[in-house]
Amino acid sequence: MLKTLIKNAHVISPGLDLENAFIAIEGRKIKQVGAKKIADKGFDTIVDAGGKYLMPGFIDVHTHGALAYDFCDKDPQAVFELAKAKLQEGVTTLLPTTLTVSGEELKTAARNAAAYVKAGSPYAKIPGIHLEGPFINVKCCGAQNPAFVRKPSIKEVKEIAKIFPVKQITYAPETEGGAKFARECIKLGIVPSCGHTGARFADLKAAYRNGLRHMTHFCNQMTPLHHREIGMVGAGLLVEDLNTEVICDKIHLCPDMLNLVFTRRDLAHVQMITDSLRCSHCKDGYAFTMGGLKVLLKNGEARLVEGGNLAGSTLWMGMGLKNVHEITGIPLERLVRTTSWNQAIEQGWGKTRGKIEKGYTADLVIVDKRTWKPAAVFVDGEQRI
Ligand SMILES: [Zn+2]
Repeated sequence: MLKTLIKNAHVISPGLDLENAFIAIEGRKIKQVGAKKIADKGFDTIVDAGGKYLMPGFIDVHTHGALAYDFCDKDPQAVFELAKAKLQEGVTTLLPTTLTVSGEELKTAARNAAAYVKAGSPYAKIPGIHLEGPFINVKCCGAQNPAFVRKPSIKEVKEIAKIFPVKQITYAPETEGGAKFARECIKLGIVPSCGHTGARFADLKAAYRNGLRHMTHFCNQMTPLHHREIGMVGAGLLVEDLNTEVICDKIHLCPDMLNLVFTRRDLAHVQMITDSLRCSHCKDGYAFTMGGLKVLLKNGEARLVEGGNLAGSTLWMGMGLKNVHEITGIPLERLVRTTSWNQAIEQGWGKTRGKIEKGYTADLVIVDKRTWKPAAVFVDGEQRI
């Protein structure tokens, strides 16, 4: 088995902040984490982290595209480009996310993901996909195309899941059959998530009783907090064990709201996401269509040309972590669970992924302390960047 030593690292993992540390990797697993010096002897590869942060590889459960590709493109190359771009951000596992499109297009996306895995998953790992819609509230589409919105159908989900695993579904719980839909998803091993929703708090409670515990991009495209109807934003602040996705680009949520979310909520139930679009990793001025709607990237913001709605982000995972760390001052050893371990726990991998600990999978990212960009990325113990 291949033995790798990463030395001179500043290890940051949930509950751990260890400078001048090393980790030993054997095959796909972390064999040892230590603070003392270790002899280089006996290792096949030695990586000097140069004092940089060493963190668990990021897990992005909500990302549509990058490098001018969208996961819903017919082109099977799209998912390869997305996984490649994500790897450059330090993401070692992602759930490519679909848009509200036709049933046939959803199946094509699932087939393309299956082809990526069949080709040996050369970049970040893709254990399944996230369906964002089409079962959303037509009044809360945001940048999703209302023409393809439909009622929740577990039959349609099963047809897609036959092609490739579905790990998460964003839907509106107030739609017909919405409360029970959560339970049907859970039976299939899928995380149901409320999003693009006009639900009242009572609707959320009904879905919660059926097992719903996840909110898609908290605050964006959901009912705001009002003092006589707390809506979904109120629910996300009140109900502790709702796993809330947050886009930490300081645009989708202003810095004050990020501060409020991260300092008032239990960090065990917050998950950073990018919700990145095809314009992520592209230059300003890049124009494209999304589900038939025109979008323009200007000043780093991707907005619909018509109406100006935000259409998703260009955020990199590590930059989200930097933003929240700077805004809130929360120590990285507490914050870092929101970029990996929380996602792993909810998906059922909490005992093997998302932490730097003996026995865990060696999915790792070395992050430059000045630029916050990844200097090296390891997937299953193999250095891929
Ligand atoms: Zn999205």
